[in-house]
Amino acid sequence: MVVLARRDTPRVLPGTLITLRRRCGKPTCRCARGAPHETPALSYSVGGRSKMLTLRPEEVKLVGAAVGRYRKAVEGLQAEAYAELERFVAGARARREGDK
Ligand SMILES: [Zn+2]
Repeated sequence: MVVLARRDTPRVLPGTLITLRRRCGKPTCRCARGAPHETPALSYSVGGRSKMLTLRPEEVKLVGAAVGRYRKAVEGLQAEAYAELERFVAGARARREGDK
């Protein structure tokens, strides 16, 4: 089993874990009749451009975990920001009422 160095283990990663499916085109391959070949990949975008990195089997679990942590962190920050927004807007409106 390949163990990735700690520096290669990301805490958070943006993007989505996807599975690429393709038929290789060799007439004798099992994929010609059966299930297509499957390759896990990380789909992400940088500067508005979509990118993709195919993953080695040993990378799938840690990438999935990092993607999950990123999504959870973003959801947490969004929830916090919207709660703050609601309080700030309510306070701002009350101050404006008080000025009248
Ligand atoms: Zn094939």
